[in-house]
Amino acid sequence: MGKFYGGSFQAIQEYFQQKFCRFCSHPFTAEGVELLREEPGILVVRVGCSACGRPLGVAIVGTGPKPGGQREKSPFDWSKRDSERFAAKLPISYDDVLAAHQFFSELGPDWSKHLPRAPRTGAR
Ligand SMILES: [Zn+2]
Repeated sequence: MGKFYGGSFQAIQEYFQQKFCRFCSHPFTAEGVELLREEPGILVVRVGCSACGRPLGVAIVGTGPKPGGQREKSPFDWSKRDSERFAAKLPISYDDVLAAHQFFSELGPDWSKHLPRAPRTGAR
């Protein structure tokens, strides 16, 4: 199963295993990092503490080309600004995740509807 994600998801898990829960101070585990969604060039993951069960938040992690490089792997329905916005997220930081957590908390449980989707009319 792990090979399906080409190592990027594992890299995210390893990143968070170096971080500590701010509630109970236990390190995060690989099991605490859940893949929510995979798009070309990005992974959306939810991070939580396996020890105390507290959620850290949702992170959008760019796995595609680095800033300044080719961006052809971005989803076809994204604007150039979308691509650059997520490309600029490399590499992620702990603060990014906390900010994302606050952002998604305000959106509520149906936050996923705010993710980029194909335009209805094809107008650009
Ligand atoms: Zn904890």
